Amino acid sequence: MEPHLQRGALTPGPPSTAGGSGPALPTQLSPSDAAKHLADGETKIRHLYLHLPFCKRICPYCDFSTAVGAGADVPGFLKTLGREAELLGEAAVLCQLEPGGGTLYLGGGTPSWFGTGVLADLLAWVVSLAGGEWAEATLEMNPEHADPDRLRVLRSGGITRLSLGAQSLDLTVLRKLGRVHSPREVCDAARAARAGGFSVSVDLMFAVPGQEHAGWRADVDGIVGLEPDHISLYNLTYEPGTPFTRWLGTGRLQVLDDDWQAEAYTWAVERLRAAGYERYEVSNFARPGHASLHNQAYWNHDAYLGMGPSAHSLLGRVRTANLFHLKQWSEAVMEEGRLPWASVERLDELVLARERVLLGLRTTRGLAITALPARYRQEVVRGAEELVGMDLAVWTEDRALVLTDRGVLLADELAARIAP
Ligand code: SF4
Repeated sequence: MEPHLQRGALTPGPPSTAGGSGPALPTQLSPSDAAKHLADGETKIRHLYLHLPFCKRICPYCDFSTAVGAGADVPGFLKTLGREAELLGEAAVLCQLEPGGGTLYLGGGTPSWFGTGVLADLLAWVVSLAGGEWAEATLEMNPEHADPDRLRVLRSGGITRLSLGAQSLDLTVLRKLGRVHSPREVCDAARAARAGGFSVSVDLMFAVPGQEHAGWRADVDGIVGLEPDHISLYNLTYEPGTPFTRWLGTGRLQVLDDDWQAEAYTWAVERLRAAGYERYEVSNFARPGHASLHNQAYWNHDAYLGMGPSAHSLLGRVRTANLFHLKQWSEAVMEEGRLPWASVERLDELVLARERVLLGLRTTRGLAITALPARYRQEVVRGAEELVGMDLAVWTEDRALVLTDRGVLLADELAARIAP
């Protein structure tokens, strides 16, 4: 098998069931019904995600749950978020939230789109909701929002880490992506965030139509020069229903092929390694001690609670996904008075094992065979030995399977191949 870059292989998503799922549970649950289903009981939730679904404008490649912020009913949104928390309280979920040493992540959308007053109120509300101290509290920020007042409010509100949606330092690429910020604003934002005492992560995107290798390399060099603590590399993917996907169909855009992408990624990995960034997951690189704790919680199958439209939760062995659209989410909570779940599934042992394989192979810690239920190990080891024989993976001393640089380009495909 010749490694090529598998489409989407470099794009991490929330954990998803790898080829199957456990029994689905009813989704239209009242708080008391939900409590019965979630009575796995002892689960402590140390990780909280809030989805804040507003942006200045919608980028043509984006399929996240978000809406144009101008004219949005922000007080109404915050009220709905508060009511969702109350419903989770009535369902005996919120009482399991114990943030001590855990993580908070404010994603979206563009959380930094909110003004300082709203951000201050929101962060104070999170403190009242969860209490305790987070080991890591991240907010996704667009570069144009890194002004001194916002940074001050975020720092005093408990945010410790900023994830900057830079995407590129090339103005042509930024405009093609529909981004409104300039390369200069990326640099200023990274410096201001560092000076403000935040741990800084930067997102970069490659395989943007029209992008050239020289431009991509200049992007990586430029971001390394800003000395962030953490860098995420994403290849552009074409999601159903987005303008970019439509434009592919009409010939307005052309995909940069797998070989282009593999070369771009492989070059970036070497460049980042030379600059002291360790790859700890296919798309994520960090200076020692700066790997994202929140991401790792997802990959470890730790319990987490998500609130807001489209947010997922893992509560013991029950995974829930909130309604995707702001309006539906809001109606479920405010008008129907129910938890805004679009799906609820109880994950069985097989599904969890498959996810462990999928997620484990994306990380450089690897897939710990002993973490799999005994009845699946033999089958997985057989497949793993084949990968080792093809130089796509190696065993570590403590019996974890780790993909080689060649194997990483096929991570998801290889996981599907050896999963039980
Ligand atoms: S800023 Fe981010 S969340 Fe908002 S539309 Fe663009 S890609 Fe999507």
